[in-house]
This record gives sequence, structure tokens and C-alpha cells, in this order.
Amino acid sequence: MAFAGGCLCGQVRWAASAAPANVRVCHCRLCQKATGGPFFARAVFLAGDFEGSGETTSWPSSPRIDRRSCARCGTPMFSCPKDAPARIGVSLATCDDPAALRPDCHIWVSSKLDWVCLDDGLPRFDEGVIGQGS
Ligand SMILES: [Zn+2]
Ligand SMILES: [Zn+2]
Repeated sequence: MAFAGGCLCGQVRWAASAAPANVRVCHCRLCQKATGGPFFARAVFLAGDFEGSGETTSWPSSPRIDRRSCARCGTPMFSCPKDAPARIGVSLATCDDPAALRPDCHIWVSSKLDWVCLDDGLPRFDEGVIGQGS
């Protein structure tokens, strides 16, 4: 199983050689601001299964997470937990095949925007899911 993707301008590319550890939609305020969208859908891959190329800019949105965006077009690409360097979060929307991966739950629903209506039947958590590479 393999996945690949890239930013809007094509400068940043990534590839993963195995299925992600999890695929989550995060509704927290940090993700809302970091993406400029109503939520952040991302797949977490094990770093050993993952390769990225291209120049990114990095910014710590919290003491725990560095966010990396394409240095040219600004597409939010990766979320890198400093306390779990073996994992990397990848923006789901950057997949070459946008239908290749589907979320398995919603997290930080306590911060979900009112007008976002969830009817996909997936599990919802008010906060993050501890200990599973959130
Ligand atoms: Zn780009
Ligand atoms: Zn978040």
C-alpha cells in the first residue's frame, strides 16, 4: 500500500510506503488557524514509512507541534509532534488521490465550528485521543 501527495505548487512532495497509523479530523482552534479552514484532516504516518522532499517553513503552533508549510505556495503540509518524532501528520487534502484515505474519527469536537455538521457516523471526541499518536 502506498500513498503520495504534494502541495499546490508541486515544490513539496511526500510519499508513504505503508498505511497510516491513524487518520483523524481535528477541530481544535490551533488547527483551524494553522490551516485557515474549519478543521484539519490529517493522516499520521510512521516516519520510517515516510519520505518528504522540497523546502518547507516550520513554525511551532504549540510547544508540542511544529507545523510545516510549503516555502513557496504556503500549503499547510505536515504537523510534527516533538514528543513523538517517529510520527508525522500529513494534510489529507494533499494526497494525489483525495479519496485514497478516509478519516476514522473526529477529535477536539469541543472546538468545532457551529456550522460544521457531522453526519458521517464516525466516533467523536471532545478532546484529543491520548496515546494513539494524536
Ligand atoms: Zn508549494
Ligand atoms: Zn488540532
